[in-house]
Amino acid sequence: MQFDMVSVGGGFSGLIPACRAAEAGLSVAVLEARSEGRYPCSSRYSTGVANVMGLPIMAEPDRLFRAIMDGSGENAHPGVARAIAENGKRVIEWLSQQGATFTQRALHHDQSGQQVLAPPRRATVGLDWEDRGPDLFMQRLEKNLTDRGGAVMRGTNVEALAVKDGVCVGVEATRDGEELRIAAKAVVIADGGFAANREMIAQYITPNADRVLCRVGPGAKGDGIRMAERAGAAIGRFGAFYGHIHHRDAMTNARLWPYPHLDAAAECGILVGPDGHRFTDEGRGGVCMANALAHLSDPLSAVLIVDDAIWKQEPAITTTVPANPTMMEAGGKLTTAPDIATLAGEIGVPAKVLAQTIVEYNEAIASNDFTRLTVPRSVRRHKPMPILTPPFHAIPLCTGVTGTMGGIVINEHAQALKPDGSVFPGLYAVGTPVAGLEGGPRAGYVGGISKSFVLGLLAGEHIAGVPIPKFA
Ligand SMILES: Cc1cc2nc3c(=O)[nH]c(=O)nc-3n(C[C@H](O)[C@H](O)[C@H](O)COP(=O)(O)OP(=O)(O)OC[C@H]3O[C@@H](n4cnc5c(N)ncnc54)[C@H](O)[C@@H]3O)c2cc1C
Repeated sequence: MQFDMVSVGGGFSGLIPACRAAEAGLSVAVLEARSEGRYPCSSRYSTGVANVMGLPIMAEPDRLFRAIMDGSGENAHPGVARAIAENGKRVIEWLSQQGATFTQRALHHDQSGQQVLAPPRRATVGLDWEDRGPDLFMQRLEKNLTDRGGAVMRGTNVEALAVKDGVCVGVEATRDGEELRIAAKAVVIADGGFAANREMIAQYITPNADRVLCRVGPGAKGDGIRMAERAGAAIGRFGAFYGHIHHRDAMTNARLWPYPHLDAAAECGILVGPDGHRFTDEGRGGVCMANALAHLSDPLSAVLIVDDAIWKQEPAITTTVPANPTMMEAGGKLTTAPDIATLAGEIGVPAKVLAQTIVEYNEAIASNDFTRLTVPRSVRRHKPMPILTPPFHAIPLCTGVTGTMGGIVINEHAQALKPDGSVFPGLYAVGTPVAGLEGGPRAGYVGGISKSFVLGLLAGEHIAGVPIPKFA
């Protein structure tokens, strides 16, 4: 079997470069490990919001570039960040030509104009992907691909890269127990990262990998990073991840993930560990809190504390899938008590310490001086609110890993690099398994879909030799 290019993985990161290359006349195949018609993957499960560090993907390029560099604590590769920033508008136009329909929505109250694949998911608990925008658009991309002579080869698990004289020349795969050697002038690794691989989570994120929630499709096994490393590609910049915080029962109750999550409510209240102390800056938002939980000695030991005013107001009742009341409707227990001492007793944390933690936090809000708190508190999207109004509520937490950060080092064309910085000829990487855009002290997250969209388009164009329009 021989193609001009193959994608390893059939999410947006694999379909988009294949569609673009097929459009330019190349012979292409998408090699997808799963065999289901509408195979499960993050692209299909996603909410479909194309944002870049929380900003609309079509925002002004310099603003996007700065957001990526600031958000990642200058951890991002400037060339790759620039490529994302400068091609946001163009990729939405190209995707629209491919049949994508977008609706505009505010992702958060302070962010209008987000492009969301239509129709968006409903305000319901658990997964809601069938016939939603991302699912429909994946079907459309596959149709476009096959209309142009390309193929999606389901049930094809890629196991290794074929490398000859330092050049990637294809892949080795299995399908229905048969070993396949597939020659390709270009291979795009687009396997969705390693959020579903406990061993790699233990290696790169937390040794307590069995105590974090896999908030992603089952295919994200980390194959792409491992096969690229074995082939001699540069890999790195692991440690942080994109995720959200959830009710702890989401570990066993599928109705409690991916929605509702508790990020917004937690930005208004406090997270405490089993000792009753705060341990993280809740104001930095859900991705930071999710990372902080993962790094606790027991990631399943933290609790969210709010009062009745927080629990009954915006944002707890107004986010896309509001935690109050959907969390309880989905079976998540809310522990409620008339006073803090009783609450502490019910959740098993030292009452005096919890009371003192809350007093200090309330004083910081009243004086608008957070500098004396042992663990700092910043204000980002939602203001911290005092914990004063009974009854008081506690929610046991877990952390959900949605997208891993770090992996294959790439350049602005999505070409994989070797450890000496030179290009790895024939090898590309798109989407979650790439390094060099995210992370840093605040676990800065460039939206997963935007990475798939833009890097996918750029990879397809580079492989096809299509001149890339310069941003004017
Ligand atoms: C619930 C949820 C909501 C989300 N919402 C948003 C959002 O609103 N905005 C946003 O920006 N991001 C969102 N994301 C993240 C976003 O969906 C992903 O970052 C993006 O879709 C990743 O696309 P991908 O193609 O790289 O990976 P995937 O869509 O995961 O596709 C990878 C594919 O590769 C296949 N594969 C794996 N290994 C192999 C192998 N060895 N051989 C062959 N095939 C293989 C897998 O089976 C899978 O089908 C969300 C994610 C989830 C889970």
